[in-house]
Amino acid sequence: MAQVVIALGSNEGDRLTYLGEGLRCCMQLAGNSSGQPLLKSSVYESEAVGPADAPFLNAVAAFECLLPPERLLANLKQTEAAQGRDFSAVRWGNRPLDLDIISCGGLILDSSFLTIPHKSCHERAFVLMPLAEILPAWRHPRLNQTAAELLGQAPKMQVYKTALLW
Ligand code: AMP
Repeated sequence: MAQVVIALGSNEGDRLTYLGEGLRCCMQLAGNSSGQPLLKSSVYESEAVGPADAPFLNAVAAFECLLPPERLLANLKQTEAAQGRDFSAVRWGNRPLDLDIISCGGLILDSSFLTIPHKSCHERAFVLMPLAEILPAWRHPRLNQTAAELLGQAPKMQVYKTALLW
């Protein structure tokens, strides 16, 4: 059993509902034998980056999970697809729901289709802010720095904590 951290994002359609669907997926994936509750951050809003042209809602969830990371990724991809994600669309473009594995306990993994910890998480303020909120003691397994420390070095971008409930 490992503590898994998932980043959720949406910048298309009813963004809060899509985040809720992502959270539902995380709850289904959470093992219930550890007695540890799922942690979820506040909902944040961030400016669009790359080809995306509408602001994102972002959040992070953390939970204990028994599944191997490849199975976890397959489940997340299935949920993205069920919410209408178009995988043929431009990379980093608009999307109803994006679910990324940020970390999986202390695991370090580099395969052709899965990199853990997520290869860009240390430079994404929209991941690091919600992560620092729910897991202040979390450390990047490769860089051995907390989310708050990484945030101090990350490229500056506009990320706001919202009052939205999910
Ligand atoms: P995305 O555009 O964020 O949905 O990710 C595209 C692809 O990145 C996925 O289909 C995965 O095969 C790959 N990928 C590599 N590492 C990760 C990770 N840590 N979490 C999610 N996707 C990943």
